[in-house]
Amino acid sequence: MTSEELQRLVEKVSLDSFGKLFCHQAIFNARLKTTGGRYHLNDHHLDFNPKMLVHGEDVLIGIIKHELCHYHLHLEGKGYQHQDASFKELLMQTGGLCFAPRVSQEVKVIIYHCQTCGKSLQRRRKINTQRYVCASCHGKLTYVETRVLSLGK
Ligand SMILES: [Zn+2]
Ligand SMILES: [Zn+2]
Repeated sequence: MTSEELQRLVEKVSLDSFGKLFCHQAIFNARLKTTGGRYHLNDHHLDFNPKMLVHGEDVLIGIIKHELCHYHLHLEGKGYQHQDASFKELLMQTGGLCFAPRVSQEVKVIIYHCQTCGKSLQRRRKINTQRYVCASCHGKLTYVETRVLSLGK
């Protein structure tokens, strides 16, 4: 599915299920990790997680409806947050999903290696190898590789 197709689908769902026009942008954002979509309060655009496509179009439409609930309620000055009664009601009326299905969570691990004692260490974030040294021997560290580990469901 292309971005244009996504845009047209969101416009169609908005008109069919809400009876209202969607006048902003809908885009795929591969940086969304575990959420299916996101509504941006500042410029009113919607982000969708392209990984949700593996669950089929029904799930994607459920996610679109969920995000459109935030969108329309916010623009109308009504309670647009998950705990608001108006949100829950609109979500039920339109058949939006409460939660996006889980995508298997991936974790990036960066492997470093000590030049002196040969120990390797894993870090979740990049470290500055000019400043950080091996914890056991204070030897110099070198970057080895970045691995992506899947945590499953
Ligand atoms: Zn939400
Ligand atoms: Zn060392």
